[in-house]
Amino acid sequence: MDFAFVSGNSALDLAATVGSRRDDPIDLLTAPADLERWVAECDELPDRVVADVATFESALSLREASYRLALDRVLGRPFDPASLKVVNEIAAGPVPVMTLSDAGLHLKGDLLAALSQVARSGIAALADPNACFKECGRTGCTRIYLDRSRGARRNWCGMSECGNRVKAAAYRARRRAAPKRRS
Ligand SMILES: [Zn+2]
Repeated sequence: MDFAFVSGNSALDLAATVGSRRDDPIDLLTAPADLERWVAECDELPDRVVADVATFESALSLREASYRLALDRVLGRPFDPASLKVVNEIAAGPVPVMTLSDAGLHLKGDLLAALSQVARSGIAALADPNACFKECGRTGCTRIYLDRSRGARRNWCGMSECGNRVKAAAYRARRRAAPKRRS
């Protein structure tokens, strides 16, 4: 399965590498190599990092802590202290070096720097009282995203990920419910 970067924040995209969390969780990061690929595909992070087992474990704890804090925001409850500790500790590390050239932005750093960057992005959003955290409206998706649409009327984490699936299912249901025509 492909990674999706539709949450509007890298910490939320990391959290969403576990899908359908409440029913039948699907984990897209099962080995350090998966994490290397995720970091490479994330626009906000360096392209090439190497993941060892220890850093992979920190990434997974950052992921679970980020999910918990985002869920706390969705539910409007105080942040979980243990998750705050994880995110704050990882955010305190060095961040990737950013350089600008005619080719655009270039980021250089190791996996720890990448994780630190993800933790900081998460903190910036979680600390923003105007950030609108929402859980995807498709039953079973459980992805949390930032709704930046006008009037905060977005219902799905992404159209290709969930919106189109819900609309297609609703269309099929309407077809089934429609009275059959006699011939
Ligand atoms: Zn979704």
